[in-house]
Amino acid sequence: MIREQDIISRYFTRKTRRASNRLGVGDDAAIIRIPAKQELLLSIDTLIEGVHFFKSTDPFALGHKTLAVSLSDIAAMGGKPIAALLSLSRPNADKKWLKAFHQGFFTLAEAYGVDLIGGDTCQGPLSLSSVVQGLVPQNQAVLRSGAKVGDLICVSGSLGDAAYAVQALKENRKKMNPYFLNRLQQPSPRVELGQRLRPYAHAMIDISDGLITDLKRILRASHVGASIYTPQLPLSSELKEASTPFEKAMKLALAGGDDYELCFTIPEKHLSRLKRLPTPITCIGKIEKKLGLLIRDGENKIVKISQEGYEHF
Ligand code: ADP
Ligand code: MG
Repeated sequence: MIREQDIISRYFTRKTRRASNRLGVGDDAAIIRIPAKQELLLSIDTLIEGVHFFKSTDPFALGHKTLAVSLSDIAAMGGKPIAALLSLSRPNADKKWLKAFHQGFFTLAEAYGVDLIGGDTCQGPLSLSSVVQGLVPQNQAVLRSGAKVGDLICVSGSLGDAAYAVQALKENRKKMNPYFLNRLQQPSPRVELGQRLRPYAHAMIDISDGLITDLKRILRASHVGASIYTPQLPLSSELKEASTPFEKAMKLALAGGDDYELCFTIPEKHLSRLKRLPTPITCIGKIEKKLGLLIRDGENKIVKISQEGYEHF
């Protein structure tokens, strides 16, 4: 068995790369220098075994996802992530697990230039929390509250893939295209896109609890309503093939969680410019004055959805 201090020094101590992360792991607290005219963004997320991930999930994927979910929050503000803190609770000091977990975590951290600057390690049920710090130019963060009547509602990437994987795992389905598992376990936080959208988006959120649930958060914060159109929902070719009829795939896209795509509103005039960005963007509806969210089919008829998304309480 190895001790807490050994776990920290062996797996979680790395030199910081950004000069602004002045002090990292090893003291009672880390120090970040905030550059002039910037603001610090802070976000925390927790993943608990049995709640957020299935028992025996691959530890490399867990390391990735622990960080990815917090990076996604920074992306949704239009910010640049710079540093992270990691709180790790595990029943034992399983070296193989720790090694794979730290590899998954640092592979993603390095890809985004994020330093691990501190954390906490304790013994207990498997639970993982990450705090991410990001920078954004003063007063330029994209909030949930900025949506305007007439804005287009857009989403990045495709929706429903992770929810499909969750369903297949719950039903113990033997054959599943690995594409789905990868979308569930190793989501790509839209960090680049979030920053590119910052000058154009009126409101933005990352989709973690399902499109309907998260879009409604924008609507409530902005005191507006919306219509979205089911034929416009971006479905991956994999989902279209695996999940038939269309209504099933549509439900996954509307109400399934864990997509970690961005949902944002923009004035129509910016759409063609944003369509040229490397990440695919799809317009799915419009912000309206009348409060509430209407989901419409190809004939403009209103669709009723029974289960709208994931909620903890
Ligand atoms: P304290 O008891 O003062 O909170 P700890 O012994 O818990 O200090 O942690 C020592 C140092 O190691 C601190 O800098 C802390 O931020 C860091 N640390 C502890 N656990 C982790 C972890 N899992 N990942 C990254 N840094 C960690
Ligand atoms: Mg501590």
